[in-house]
Amino acid sequence: MTLPNPTKFYIDGAWVDATDREKINVTNPANGETIATLALATADDVNAAVAAARRALPGLRATDMAQRRAMLHRIRAAYAARIDDMGQAIMQELGAPIDLARAGQAAGVLGKIDAFIDACDEVVLSEPLANGDLVLRQPAGVAALITPWNWPLHQIMLKLGAALAAGCPMILKPSEVTPICATILAEVMHAADLPAGAFNMIHGDGAGAGATLTAHPGVDVISFTGSTAAGGRIARTAAEGIKRCALELGGKSACVIFADADLDAALTSTLRKAFNNSGQNCNAPTRLLIERSAYDDAVTVAARLAADWTIGWPDQPGAHIGPVANARQHAHIRAMIKSGLNTGARLVAGGLDVPPEFANGCFVAPTILADVTNDMEVARTEIFGPVVVMIPFDDETDALSIANDSDYGLAAFVHTADRDRAHRMIRDLEAGMVLVNGSDISPGSPFGGVKASGIGREGGIFGIEEFMEIKLVAGAP
Ligand code: NAD
Repeated sequence: MTLPNPTKFYIDGAWVDATDREKINVTNPANGETIATLALATADDVNAAVAAARRALPGLRATDMAQRRAMLHRIRAAYAARIDDMGQAIMQELGAPIDLARAGQAAGVLGKIDAFIDACDEVVLSEPLANGDLVLRQPAGVAALITPWNWPLHQIMLKLGAALAAGCPMILKPSEVTPICATILAEVMHAADLPAGAFNMIHGDGAGAGATLTAHPGVDVISFTGSTAAGGRIARTAAEGIKRCALELGGKSACVIFADADLDAALTSTLRKAFNNSGQNCNAPTRLLIERSAYDDAVTVAARLAADWTIGWPDQPGAHIGPVANARQHAHIRAMIKSGLNTGARLVAGGLDVPPEFANGCFVAPTILADVTNDMEVARTEIFGPVVVMIPFDDETDALSIANDSDYGLAAFVHTADRDRAHRMIRDLEAGMVLVNGSDISPGSPFGGVKASGIGREGGIFGIEEFMEIKLVAGAP
Protein backbone atom coordinates (compact mmCIF):
# COMPACT_ATOMS: atom_id res chain seq x y z
CA MET A 1 0.00 0.00 0.00
CA THR A 2 1.21 3.53 -0.73
CA LEU A 3 1.25 5.49 2.47
CA PRO A 4 -0.54 8.86 2.43
CA ASN A 5 1.55 12.03 2.35
CA PRO A 6 0.53 14.20 5.29
CA THR A 7 0.11 17.31 3.15
CA LYS A 8 -3.58 17.98 3.77
CA PHE A 9 -5.62 18.72 6.87
CA TYR A 10 -8.98 17.20 7.83
CA ILE A 11 -11.38 20.01 8.66
CA ASP A 12 -15.19 20.08 8.84
CA GLY A 13 -15.55 16.56 7.45
CA ALA A 14 -13.33 17.06 4.37
CA TRP A 15 -9.66 17.03 3.33
CA VAL A 16 -8.38 20.54 2.69
CA ASP A 17 -5.12 21.92 1.32
CA ALA A 18 -2.70 23.68 3.64
CA THR A 19 -2.68 27.46 3.17
CA ASP A 20 1.13 27.58 3.35
CA ARG A 21 3.50 25.74 1.04
CA GLU A 22 6.20 25.26 3.69
CA LYS A 23 6.87 21.58 4.39
CA ILE A 24 9.20 19.55 6.61
CA ASN A 25 10.51 16.06 5.95
CA VAL A 26 9.38 12.90 7.69
CA THR A 27 12.33 10.53 8.08
CA ASN A 28 12.74 6.79 8.55
CA PRO A 29 15.07 6.49 11.57
CA ALA A 30 16.38 3.09 10.47
CA ASN A 31 18.18 4.55 7.45
CA GLY A 32 17.68 8.33 7.43
CA GLU A 33 15.60 8.27 4.23
CA THR A 34 12.87 10.86 3.69
CA ILE A 35 9.57 9.01 3.45
CA ALA A 36 7.08 11.89 3.29
CA THR A 37 6.70 15.64 3.52
CA LEU A 38 4.57 17.27 6.16
CA ALA A 39 2.45 20.39 5.73
CA LEU A 40 2.63 22.93 8.56
CA ALA A 41 -0.64 24.51 9.65
CA THR A 42 -0.77 28.30 9.76
CA ALA A 43 -2.94 30.42 12.04
CA ASP A 44 -5.55 30.47 9.22
CA ASP A 45 -5.64 26.66 9.16
CA VAL A 46 -5.96 26.54 12.95
CA ASN A 47 -8.77 29.13 12.80
CA ALA A 48 -10.65 27.05 10.22
CA ALA A 49 -10.31 23.87 12.31
CA VAL A 50 -11.42 25.58 15.53
CA ALA A 51 -14.37 27.25 13.75
CA ALA A 52 -15.51 23.86 12.41
CA ALA A 53 -15.28 22.32 15.88
CA ARG A 54 -17.24 25.21 17.42
CA ARG A 55 -20.01 24.76 14.86
CA ALA A 56 -20.17 21.05 15.77
CA LEU A 57 -20.42 21.68 19.53
CA PRO A 58 -24.20 22.22 19.92
CA GLY A 59 -25.01 19.09 17.91
CA LEU A 60 -22.57 16.91 19.83
CA ARG A 61 -23.68 18.31 23.17
CA ALA A 62 -27.23 17.23 22.33
CA THR A 63 -26.23 13.58 21.68
CA ASP A 64 -27.01 10.97 24.29
CA MET A 65 -24.65 8.20 25.40
CA ALA A 66 -26.24 5.67 23.02
CA GLN A 67 -25.40 7.93 20.06
CA ARG A 68 -21.84 8.48 21.28
CA ARG A 69 -21.40 4.74 21.83
CA ALA A 70 -22.64 4.13 18.28
CA MET A 71 -20.02 6.56 16.92
CA LEU A 72 -17.30 4.71 18.85
CA HIS A 73 -18.52 1.40 17.39
CA ARG A 74 -18.27 2.87 13.86
CA ILE A 75 -14.75 4.13 14.60
CA ARG A 76 -13.78 0.68 15.89
CA ALA A 77 -15.01 -1.04 12.72
CA ALA A 78 -13.27 1.48 10.42
CA TYR A 79 -10.08 1.28 12.51
CA ALA A 80 -9.97 -2.53 12.45
CA ALA A 81 -10.01 -2.41 8.64
CA ARG A 82 -6.83 -0.28 8.50
CA ILE A 83 -4.55 -2.05 10.99
CA ASP A 84 -2.12 -3.31 8.36
CA ASP A 85 -1.73 0.18 6.87
CA MET A 86 -1.15 1.74 10.26
CA GLY A 87 1.41 -0.94 11.14
CA GLN A 88 3.29 -0.18 7.92
CA ALA A 89 3.24 3.54 8.63
CA ILE A 90 4.53 3.13 12.19
CA MET A 91 7.24 0.74 11.03
CA GLN A 92 8.53 3.38 8.62
CA GLU A 93 8.11 6.64 10.51
CA LEU A 94 8.86 5.42 14.06
CA GLY A 95 11.12 2.49 13.16
CA ALA A 96 9.13 0.01 15.27
CA PRO A 97 9.72 -3.57 14.10
CA ILE A 98 6.77 -4.75 12.04
CA ASP A 99 5.35 -7.25 14.56
CA LEU A 100 5.34 -4.62 17.29
CA ALA A 101 4.09 -1.95 14.88
CA ARG A 102 1.16 -4.06 13.72
CA ALA A 103 0.14 -5.89 16.92
CA GLY A 104 1.19 -3.69 19.84
CA GLN A 105 1.13 -0.25 18.27
CA ALA A 106 -1.78 -0.55 15.81
CA ALA A 107 -4.06 -3.45 16.83
CA GLY A 108 -3.49 -2.82 20.55
CA VAL A 109 -5.57 0.35 20.25
CA LEU A 110 -8.76 -1.69 19.76
CA GLY A 111 -8.71 -2.53 23.49
CA LYS A 112 -8.66 1.18 24.30
CA ILE A 113 -11.69 1.82 22.05
CA ASP A 114 -13.50 -1.11 23.67
CA ALA A 115 -12.80 0.36 27.11
CA PHE A 116 -14.38 3.67 26.03
CA ILE A 117 -17.38 1.83 24.59
CA ASP A 118 -17.80 0.03 27.95
CA ALA A 119 -17.26 3.24 29.89
CA CYS A 120 -20.16 4.89 28.04
CA ASP A 121 -22.39 2.80 30.32
CA GLU A 122 -20.80 4.45 33.37
CA VAL A 123 -21.34 8.05 32.26
CA VAL A 124 -24.34 9.60 34.01
CA LEU A 125 -25.35 12.71 32.05
CA SER A 126 -28.07 13.82 34.46
CA GLU A 127 -28.17 13.05 38.17
CA PRO A 128 -30.71 14.29 40.75
CA LEU A 129 -29.16 15.18 44.12
CA ALA A 130 -30.75 14.27 47.46
CA ASN A 131 -31.25 18.01 48.10
CA GLY A 132 -33.57 18.32 45.07
CA ASP A 133 -31.07 19.99 42.73
CA LEU A 134 -29.86 18.41 39.50
CA VAL A 135 -26.32 17.81 38.24
CA LEU A 136 -25.65 17.61 34.51
CA ARG A 137 -22.38 16.33 33.06
CA GLN A 138 -21.75 18.23 29.86
CA PRO A 139 -18.94 18.38 27.32
CA ALA A 140 -16.25 20.83 28.48
CA GLY A 141 -16.26 22.39 24.99
CA VAL A 142 -13.89 22.33 22.02
CA ALA A 143 -10.84 20.19 22.75
CA ALA A 144 -7.27 20.52 21.47
CA LEU A 145 -5.46 17.16 21.44
CA ILE A 146 -1.66 17.27 21.22
CA THR A 147 0.14 13.93 21.03
CA PRO A 148 3.71 12.54 20.85
CA TRP A 149 5.28 9.87 18.67
CA ASN A 150 6.24 6.91 20.87
CA TRP A 151 2.86 5.09 20.96
CA PRO A 152 1.24 7.46 18.51
CA LEU A 153 -2.09 5.75 17.87
CA HIS A 154 -2.66 4.77 21.51
CA GLN A 155 -1.99 8.32 22.59
CA ILE A 156 -4.36 9.76 19.99
CA MET A 157 -7.14 7.28 20.75
CA LEU A 158 -6.90 7.82 24.52
CA LYS A 159 -7.81 11.47 23.87
CA LEU A 160 -10.08 11.08 20.85
CA GLY A 161 -12.26 8.32 22.36
CA ALA A 162 -12.61 10.18 25.65
CA ALA A 163 -13.42 13.52 23.99
CA LEU A 164 -16.07 11.93 21.78
CA ALA A 165 -17.67 10.00 24.66
CA ALA A 166 -17.82 13.28 26.56
CA GLY A 167 -19.43 15.05 23.58
CA CYS A 168 -16.49 17.35 22.80
CA PRO A 169 -15.62 18.27 19.20
CA MET A 170 -11.87 18.17 18.76
CA ILE A 171 -8.83 19.34 16.84
CA LEU A 172 -5.95 16.86 16.83
CA LYS A 173 -2.37 18.03 16.28
CA PRO A 174 -0.38 14.77 16.13
CA SER A 175 3.38 14.54 16.47
CA GLU A 176 5.33 15.83 13.49
CA VAL A 177 7.53 12.71 13.88
CA THR A 178 4.67 10.24 13.20
CA PRO A 179 2.12 12.11 11.07
CA ILE A 180 1.48 9.30 8.57
CA CYS A 181 -0.29 6.92 10.95
CA ALA A 182 -2.27 9.92 12.23
CA THR A 183 -3.33 10.71 8.66
CA ILE A 184 -4.57 7.14 8.23
CA LEU A 185 -6.43 7.53 11.52
CA ALA A 186 -8.10 10.67 10.14
CA GLU A 187 -9.16 8.57 7.13
CA VAL A 188 -10.65 6.12 9.65
CA MET A 189 -12.57 8.98 11.26
CA HIS A 190 -13.88 10.04 7.85
CA ALA A 191 -15.02 6.48 7.14
CA ALA A 192 -16.77 6.39 10.55
CA ASP A 193 -19.12 9.11 9.29
CA LEU A 194 -19.11 11.45 12.27
CA PRO A 195 -20.95 14.78 12.17
CA ALA A 196 -18.89 17.36 10.23
CA GLY A 197 -16.51 19.23 12.54
CA ALA A 198 -16.65 16.66 15.36
CA PHE A 199 -13.11 15.52 14.50
CA ASN A 200 -10.55 17.78 12.84
CA MET A 201 -6.84 17.26 12.30
CA ILE A 202 -4.08 19.69 11.44
CA HIS A 203 -0.38 18.95 11.08
CA GLY A 204 2.61 20.95 12.22
CA ASP A 205 5.27 21.32 14.84
CA GLY A 206 4.89 22.27 18.48
CA ALA A 207 6.18 25.82 18.38
CA GLY A 208 3.99 26.65 15.35
CA ALA A 209 0.70 24.78 14.97
CA GLY A 210 0.73 23.33 18.50
CA ALA A 211 1.25 26.63 20.28
CA THR A 212 -1.24 28.45 18.03
CA LEU A 213 -3.90 25.80 18.64
CA THR A 214 -3.53 25.63 22.42
CA ALA A 215 -3.63 29.43 22.72
CA HIS A 216 -6.69 29.78 20.48
CA PRO A 217 -9.58 31.43 22.36
CA GLY A 218 -12.01 29.00 20.72
CA VAL A 219 -10.36 26.05 22.49
CA ASP A 220 -11.85 25.27 25.92
CA VAL A 221 -9.92 22.17 26.98
CA ILE A 222 -6.39 20.98 26.21
CA SER A 223 -5.21 17.41 26.49
CA PHE A 224 -1.47 17.04 26.03
CA THR A 225 0.90 14.08 26.10
CA GLY A 226 4.60 14.71 25.66
CA SER A 227 7.66 16.06 27.37
CA THR A 228 7.57 17.80 30.73
CA ALA A 229 9.18 20.90 29.15
CA ALA A 230 6.43 21.30 26.54
CA GLY A 231 3.80 20.41 29.17
CA GLY A 232 4.98 23.31 31.32
CA ARG A 233 4.64 25.73 28.37
CA ILE A 234 1.15 24.42 27.60
CA ALA A 235 0.09 24.67 31.26
CA ARG A 236 1.11 28.36 31.21
CA THR A 237 -0.90 28.90 28.01
CA ALA A 238 -3.90 27.13 29.58
CA ALA A 239 -3.61 29.28 32.71
CA GLU A 240 -3.54 32.48 30.61
CA GLY A 241 -6.72 31.43 28.81
CA ILE A 242 -8.40 29.81 31.88
CA LYS A 243 -8.73 26.51 29.97
CA ARG A 244 -9.06 23.01 31.40
CA CYS A 245 -5.82 21.16 30.84
CA ALA A 246 -4.69 17.54 31.28
CA LEU A 247 -0.98 16.72 31.02
CA GLU A 248 0.60 13.29 30.56
CA LEU A 249 4.33 13.93 30.77
CA GLY A 250 7.65 12.19 31.27
CA GLY A 251 8.84 9.70 33.85
CA LYS A 252 11.81 8.07 35.55
CA SER A 253 9.91 5.29 37.20
CA ALA A 254 11.45 3.31 40.04
CA CYS A 255 11.26 -0.47 40.11
CA VAL A 256 11.89 -1.75 43.64
CA ILE A 257 13.02 -5.38 43.77
CA PHE A 258 13.29 -6.93 47.25
CA ALA A 259 15.52 -9.93 47.95
CA ASP A 260 12.49 -12.18 48.54
CA ALA A 261 11.28 -11.68 44.95
CA ASP A 262 11.85 -14.20 42.15
CA LEU A 263 14.77 -12.34 40.53
CA ASP A 264 14.44 -14.03 37.16
CA ALA A 265 10.73 -13.29 36.87
CA ALA A 266 11.10 -9.75 38.22
CA LEU A 267 13.91 -8.81 35.87
CA THR A 268 12.33 -10.52 32.84
CA SER A 269 9.19 -8.44 33.25
CA THR A 270 11.17 -5.28 34.06
CA LEU A 271 13.46 -5.48 31.02
CA ARG A 272 10.47 -6.20 28.77
CA LYS A 273 8.76 -3.03 29.98
CA ALA A 274 12.02 -1.05 29.77
CA PHE A 275 13.34 -2.22 26.37
CA ASN A 276 10.15 -2.84 24.39
CA ASN A 277 9.58 -0.13 21.74
CA SER A 278 13.30 0.71 22.04
CA GLY A 279 12.67 1.94 25.57
CA GLN A 280 10.49 4.81 24.36
CA ASN A 281 7.82 4.28 27.02
CA CYS A 282 6.95 7.10 29.38
CA ASN A 283 6.07 4.66 32.19
CA ALA A 284 9.11 2.39 31.71
CA PRO A 285 10.80 1.01 34.87
CA THR A 286 14.16 2.63 34.21
CA ARG A 287 15.48 3.06 37.78
CA LEU A 288 15.98 -0.45 39.16
CA LEU A 289 16.38 -0.36 42.94
CA ILE A 290 17.65 -3.71 44.24
CA GLU A 291 17.92 -4.84 47.88
CA ARG A 292 21.62 -5.01 48.62
CA SER A 293 21.68 -8.70 49.63
CA ALA A 294 20.37 -9.64 46.15
CA TYR A 295 22.20 -6.91 44.23
CA ASP A 296 25.14 -8.89 42.79
CA ASP A 297 22.85 -11.73 41.73
CA ALA A 298 20.43 -9.25 40.16
CA VAL A 299 23.20 -7.63 38.11
CA THR A 300 24.27 -11.06 36.83
CA VAL A 301 20.68 -12.06 35.96
CA ALA A 302 19.98 -8.70 34.28
CA ALA A 303 23.14 -8.96 32.16
CA ARG A 304 22.16 -12.48 31.08
CA LEU A 305 18.57 -11.47 30.23
CA ALA A 306 19.70 -8.37 28.33
CA ALA A 307 21.50 -10.62 25.86
CA ASP A 308 18.05 -11.77 24.64
CA TRP A 309 17.32 -8.20 23.53
CA THR A 310 18.90 -7.60 20.16
CA ILE A 311 18.56 -4.80 17.65
CA GLY A 312 17.32 -5.50 14.15
CA TRP A 313 15.67 -4.03 11.07
CA PRO A 314 12.11 -2.77 11.40
CA ASP A 315 10.87 -4.64 8.33
CA GLN A 316 11.99 -8.00 9.76
CA PRO A 317 9.50 -10.03 11.82
CA GLY A 318 10.55 -10.92 15.35
CA ALA A 319 10.86 -9.55 18.87
CA HIS A 320 14.05 -7.49 18.33
CA ILE A 321 14.06 -3.75 18.94
CA GLY A 322 14.37 -1.19 16.14
CA PRO A 323 16.02 2.23 16.09
CA VAL A 324 14.94 5.08 18.32
CA ALA A 325 12.67 7.67 16.75
CA ASN A 326 15.06 10.27 15.41
CA ALA A 327 18.59 11.67 15.40
CA ARG A 328 17.85 14.05 18.29
CA GLN A 329 16.74 11.20 20.56
CA HIS A 330 19.67 9.09 19.39
CA ALA A 331 22.16 11.81 20.33
CA HIS A 332 20.46 12.39 23.70
CA ILE A 333 20.48 8.69 24.65
CA ARG A 334 24.13 8.29 23.69
CA ALA A 335 25.03 11.41 25.69
CA MET A 336 23.26 9.90 28.71
CA ILE A 337 25.17 6.59 28.40
CA LYS A 338 28.43 8.57 28.21
CA SER A 339 27.38 10.61 31.24
CA GLY A 340 26.74 7.41 33.22
CA LEU A 341 30.10 5.94 32.29
CA ASN A 342 31.91 9.21 33.05
CA THR A 343 30.34 9.46 36.51
CA GLY A 344 31.23 5.94 37.64
CA ALA A 345 28.49 3.61 36.40
CA ARG A 346 29.55 0.08 35.45
CA LEU A 347 28.47 -1.12 32.00
CA VAL A 348 27.01 -4.62 32.24
CA ALA A 349 25.13 -4.78 28.92
CA GLY A 350 24.99 -2.76 25.70
CA GLY A 351 26.84 0.54 25.60
CA LEU A 352 27.72 2.91 22.80
CA ASP A 353 28.59 0.35 20.11
CA VAL A 354 26.20 -1.28 17.67
CA PRO A 355 27.04 -3.83 14.95
CA PRO A 356 28.46 -1.99 11.88
CA GLU A 357 25.44 -2.67 9.64
CA PHE A 358 23.31 -0.55 12.01
CA ALA A 359 25.77 2.32 12.35
CA ASN A 360 23.95 4.61 9.88
CA GLY A 361 20.58 4.38 11.62
CA CYS A 362 19.40 5.65 15.01
CA PHE A 363 20.07 2.33 16.77
CA VAL A 364 20.99 1.97 20.44
CA ALA A 365 21.91 -1.37 22.03
CA PRO A 366 19.82 -2.34 25.10
CA THR A 367 22.01 -1.02 27.89
CA ILE A 368 22.30 -1.67 31.62
CA LEU A 369 24.33 0.60 33.89
CA ALA A 370 25.05 -0.82 37.36
CA ASP A 371 26.48 0.76 40.54
CA VAL A 372 24.56 3.97 39.89
CA THR A 373 23.69 6.38 42.68
CA ASN A 374 20.48 8.34 42.68
CA ASP A 375 22.25 11.68 42.38
CA MET A 376 23.83 10.83 39.01
CA GLU A 377 22.42 12.42 35.85
CA VAL A 378 21.47 8.95 34.51
CA ALA A 379 19.29 8.39 37.59
CA ARG A 380 17.54 11.76 37.42
CA THR A 381 17.05 12.52 33.72
CA GLU A 382 14.49 10.81 31.51
CA ILE A 383 16.57 8.97 28.88
CA PHE A 384 13.65 7.68 26.76
CA GLY A 385 15.68 4.90 25.18
CA PRO A 386 16.66 1.29 25.96
CA VAL A 387 18.76 2.18 29.01
CA VAL A 388 18.20 1.16 32.65
CA VAL A 389 20.22 1.93 35.74
CA MET A 390 20.69 -0.31 38.80
CA ILE A 391 20.96 1.13 42.31
CA PRO A 392 21.34 -0.91 45.52
CA PHE A 393 19.27 -0.12 48.66
CA ASP A 394 19.51 -1.24 52.29
CA ASP A 395 15.94 -1.66 53.54
CA GLU A 396 12.34 -0.64 52.89
CA THR A 397 12.82 2.89 54.23
CA ASP A 398 15.89 3.40 52.06
CA ALA A 399 14.07 2.00 49.00
CA LEU A 400 11.15 4.39 49.48
CA SER A 401 13.38 7.37 49.98
CA ILE A 402 15.37 6.65 46.80
CA ALA A 403 12.24 5.83 44.79
CA ASN A 404 10.50 9.06 45.82
CA ASP A 405 13.63 11.19 45.38
CA SER A 406 12.73 12.07 41.77
CA ASP A 407 11.15 15.01 39.99
CA TYR A 408 8.83 12.52 38.33
CA GLY A 409 6.00 10.33 39.60
CA LEU A 410 4.43 8.45 36.72
CA ALA A 411 4.65 4.73 37.58
CA ALA A 412 6.34 2.67 40.27
CA PHE A 413 6.97 -1.06 40.32
CA VAL A 414 7.36 -3.37 43.33
CA HIS A 415 8.56 -6.97 43.42
CA THR A 416 8.26 -8.76 46.76
CA ALA A 417 6.78 -11.95 48.22
CA ASP A 418 5.70 -10.05 51.36
CA ARG A 419 2.08 -8.93 51.03
CA ASP A 420 2.17 -6.42 53.92
CA ARG A 421 5.32 -4.82 52.59
CA ALA A 422 3.76 -4.60 49.12
CA HIS A 423 0.81 -2.70 50.61
CA ARG A 424 3.07 -0.31 52.53
CA MET A 425 4.97 0.43 49.31
CA ILE A 426 1.73 0.89 47.35
CA ARG A 427 0.62 3.46 49.95
CA ASP A 428 3.87 5.40 50.16
CA LEU A 429 5.30 5.42 46.63
CA GLU A 430 4.77 8.84 45.03
CA ALA A 431 3.41 7.75 41.66
CA GLY A 432 0.17 7.79 39.71
CA MET A 433 0.34 4.03 39.12
CA VAL A 434 1.89 1.15 41.11
CA LEU A 435 2.40 -2.22 39.41
CA VAL A 436 3.12 -5.19 41.66
CA ASN A 437 5.07 -8.36 40.80
CA GLY A 438 5.12 -7.89 37.02
CA SER A 439 1.46 -6.93 36.52
CA ASP A 440 0.35 -4.92 33.49
CA ILE A 441 -2.14 -2.06 33.27
CA SER A 442 -5.52 -3.07 31.83
CA PRO A 443 -7.40 -0.98 29.23
CA GLY A 444 -9.86 1.37 30.93
CA SER A 445 -7.71 1.89 34.04
CA PRO A 446 -6.62 5.45 34.87
CA PHE A 447 -3.23 6.22 33.32
CA GLY A 448 -1.30 9.25 34.52
CA GLY A 449 1.16 10.62 37.02
CA VAL A 450 1.95 13.04 39.82
CA LYS A 451 4.72 15.65 40.28
CA ALA A 452 6.48 16.48 36.98
CA SER A 453 4.76 13.52 35.31
CA GLY A 454 1.57 15.48 34.91
CA ILE A 455 -1.96 16.23 35.97
CA GLY A 456 -5.06 14.23 35.05
CA ARG A 457 -5.80 10.67 33.98
CA GLU A 458 -6.50 8.95 30.67
CA GLY A 459 -8.41 5.78 29.81
CA GLY A 460 -11.99 4.60 30.33
CA ILE A 461 -14.36 6.63 32.50
CA PHE A 462 -11.43 8.50 34.14
CA GLY A 463 -10.33 9.83 30.75
CA ILE A 464 -13.88 10.79 29.75
CA GLU A 465 -14.35 12.83 32.94
CA GLU A 466 -11.34 15.02 31.97
CA PHE A 467 -13.46 16.30 29.07
CA MET A 468 -16.65 16.89 31.06
CA GLU A 469 -17.90 19.84 33.06
CA ILE A 470 -20.48 19.81 35.83
CA LYS A 471 -23.56 22.01 35.45
CA LEU A 472 -25.73 22.51 38.53
CA VAL A 473 -29.41 23.09 37.89
CA ALA A 474 -31.70 24.34 40.61
CA GLY A 475 -35.44 24.49 40.07
CA ALA A 476 -35.49 22.46 36.86
CA PRO A 477 -39.17 22.24 35.88
P1 NAD B 1 7.30 16.84 22.85
O1 NAD B 1 6.82 17.46 24.11
O2 NAD B 1 8.42 17.43 22.15
O3 NAD B 1 6.09 16.84 21.77
C1 NAD B 1 4.84 16.26 22.04
C2 NAD B 1 3.79 16.94 21.19
O4 NAD B 1 3.64 18.28 21.64
C3 NAD B 1 4.14 17.03 19.72
O5 NAD B 1 2.94 16.91 18.96
C4 NAD B 1 4.70 18.44 19.58
O6 NAD B 1 4.55 18.98 18.29
C5 NAD B 1 3.82 19.19 20.57
N1 NAD B 1 4.38 20.38 21.18
C6 NAD B 1 5.67 20.60 21.56
N2 NAD B 1 5.79 21.83 22.09
C7 NAD B 1 4.55 22.39 22.07
C8 NAD B 1 4.02 23.65 22.49
N3 NAD B 1 4.78 24.59 23.06
N4 NAD B 1 2.71 23.88 22.32
C9 NAD B 1 1.91 22.95 21.77
N5 NAD B 1 2.35 21.76 21.34
C10 NAD B 1 3.66 21.47 21.50
O7 NAD B 1 7.48 15.32 23.22
P2 NAD B 1 7.93 14.12 22.27
O8 NAD B 1 9.38 14.23 22.10
O9 NAD B 1 7.05 14.05 21.07
O10 NAD B 1 7.51 12.87 23.18
C11 NAD B 1 8.35 12.30 24.13
C12 NAD B 1 7.95 12.72 25.53
O11 NAD B 1 6.58 12.40 25.80
C13 NAD B 1 8.73 11.99 26.60
O12 NAD B 1 9.18 12.91 27.55
C14 NAD B 1 7.72 11.04 27.23
O13 NAD B 1 7.97 10.67 28.52
C15 NAD B 1 6.46 11.79 27.07
N6 NAD B 1 5.30 10.87 27.08
C16 NAD B 1 4.46 10.85 28.16
C17 NAD B 1 3.39 9.98 28.19
C18 NAD B 1 2.44 9.93 29.35
O14 NAD B 1 1.32 9.46 29.21
N7 NAD B 1 2.80 10.39 30.52
C19 NAD B 1 3.16 9.13 27.12
C20 NAD B 1 4.05 9.17 26.06
C21 NAD B 1 5.11 10.07 26.04
